[in-house]
Amino acid sequence: MKNADSADNEGLLVRRIKNGTVIDHIDGGEALNVVKILGITGTTQEALSIATNVQSRHMGRKDIVKLTNRELSKEEVDRIALISPRATINIIRNFKVFEKKGVEIPTLIEGIVRCPNPGCISNTNEPITSKFDVLPKGLHCRYCDWVITKDLTSHIL
Ligand code: ZN
Repeated sequence: MKNADSADNEGLLVRRIKNGTVIDHIDGGEALNVVKILGITGTTQEALSIATNVQSRHMGRKDIVKLTNRELSKEEVDRIALISPRATINIIRNFKVFEKKGVEIPTLIEGIVRCPNPGCISNTNEPITSKFDVLPKGLHCRYCDWVITKDLTSHIL
């Protein structure tokens, strides 16, 4: 894979979408993790375009994700804050920015992250959704007190 130069990325940038969501100012290299934390896979419906390592005056380099025909909910938007707190969300309707919002780090994460403790009740066959409190030291499992302090993205379900 060769690196696309910034001129190519600019081309992607200006391709506008009619309806959907543009997630801008993602930390460089984090776009795929953003997609992952939103639960988007090859089998879900969204048309997705991703620009990585775009030159940014404010950030050096940034990533951009565009989702056609999908508007993110507040809960989905705030998940993004866990991996890219500077991200901005633009909801697009009929080619215009309908709403612009920042991301806020949520206080509780439910069902997105798997507890690394194999003995945790959330990892058994019980129908229990994982729950983590977002604390300054990391993500704290409500069931077993395990704390995820780094590499959050490797624990996303
Ligand atoms: Zn746990």
